[in-house]
Amino acid sequence: MKNGVVIVGAGHAGVQAAASLREEGFDGQVILVGDENELPYHKPPLSKTFIKDAEAKPQPLRGEAFYTGSAIDYRPGVRIERIDAPRRSLDIAGGGALAFDHLILATGSRPRILPLAGSELSGVLSLRSLADARLIRELSAQSDDVVILGGGFIGLEIAATLRAAGRTVTVVEAVDRLLGRAVAPVVASHVRKRLEAIGVRILTGTSIARLEGENGHVSVAITSTGERLPARMVIVGIGAVPNVELAQKAGLAVANGIRVDHQMRSSAPEILAIGDAASYRHWFTGGDVRLESVQNATDQARLAARTVTGHVDAYSAVPWFWSDIGDMKLQMVGLTAGGDRHVVLGDLPDNKFSIYHYAGDRLLGIESVNRPGDHMLGRKMLGAGFSPTPQTIAAGPEGLKAALAAFLESEPARAAG
Ligand code: FAD
Ligand code: NAP
Repeated sequence: MKNGVVIVGAGHAGVQAAASLREEGFDGQVILVGDENELPYHKPPLSKTFIKDAEAKPQPLRGEAFYTGSAIDYRPGVRIERIDAPRRSLDIAGGGALAFDHLILATGSRPRILPLAGSELSGVLSLRSLADARLIRELSAQSDDVVILGGGFIGLEIAATLRAAGRTVTVVEAVDRLLGRAVAPVVASHVRKRLEAIGVRILTGTSIARLEGENGHVSVAITSTGERLPARMVIVGIGAVPNVELAQKAGLAVANGIRVDHQMRSSAPEILAIGDAASYRHWFTGGDVRLESVQNATDQARLAARTVTGHVDAYSAVPWFWSDIGDMKLQMVGLTAGGDRHVVLGDLPDNKFSIYHYAGDRLLGIESVNRPGDHMLGRKMLGAGFSPTPQTIAAGPEGLKAALAAFLESEPARAAG
């Protein structure tokens, strides 16, 4: 291999891919290109802690010494604007080219834009990058009234964070419930109650009709019901769209993400795609998915490095996610779409419970609030292919642990792998 591997995108997936290539013994050139001017950083703290604390520092994914010590040629502030797939070459915005033997696309996703009258006003922001978080932190320090569009993870994490920092916060969600893409209604309504208890105002089944401003800065958000919400800052958190344009223009297959096989190879086998930007047939559900989580980015990066180094593994990681919303640590494992019944362990008023979702007899996934032990055990159970009965679950964590141990003993191959 003469030109080695070029990784486009220096977020969670790209940095892990670079590290994993070295861990897998790859000794060729590794170039990691990112269009942000930062040492690559963890995104999750941005919405949870960073925006409320003027002193908070970004948390690097790896220290600077990692890049030099592992011979990773990290190039910040560089944007790739075109892939010439037949020539195995990339065009750099502003001039220059990079040749590759293997290309890993880890371009992530970006906030969905809401076409709304007034969205060009200053003070209307979304949160994806450290640069966005710095802007939100700066402006929120001078803003009493914050309106958040979207009751997904990002909207609710920011709502809890800014409310704790003393702001007046209103969340406006278009459908009639929160976290519609993420958790069961019972968890969503629990989250709603606790956010309302700390003073976050939540309007579901409502959208924003337009924004008005003074001197070019947003001042009021007008809802679909005609209410005028004072707003010194409006944060739009209405979902993410995958960055697929490079792949699309290069003629790679794209369908809600860059299509990849179980080894993370796109329709051109020397080009791989991972993380938020990649869509694939999921081993667990049999359906096509594109997941937006740190676990997905990290595990796919590890697998991509194995593919580049000649291994033939199939992606089979158990998906898991987390979110910190006020005093709730939400942890989700598995994919629960298609569930037809659930079992609850723990106590909602105590703010500590887990919901076990089933389709027929098959355990699909678990959503936990402040019960990290259930989540960790759930990861082990789903990873081993163990589907306990609802009765075993109802017996509590000790009974479950014993049932898992018995299962692993009867299936030693699962225990090993
Ligand atoms: P990213 O981390 O987005 O990295 C992609 C990088 O590629 C970006 O730097 C982008 O600028 C760059 N890029 C794109 N195109 C080009 C190009 N043409 N040339 C050069 N560079 C390019 N997930 C969880 O599991 N738990 C959480 O608690 C959680 N909290 C989050 C909080 C926030 C505020 C955000 C924004 C996300 C959060 N996520 C969380 C989601 C998680 O961060 C993403 O799923 C993860 O970052 C995906 O990794 P990625 O590498 O695919 O994309
Ligand atoms: P999301 O989870 O898709 O939630 C977006 C929410 O906005 C959905 O509930 C959506 O409802 C709603 N919505 C859509 N259009 C709307 C409109 N016009 N008015 C009001 N509400 C509207 O995405 P997100 O919360 O924006 O997060 C963005 C990205 O950050 C994702 O990649 C996410 O994974 C990541 N993130 C993750 C975490 C975490 O995992 N803890 C935390 C923060 C951010 P519908 O579903 O009905 O469209």
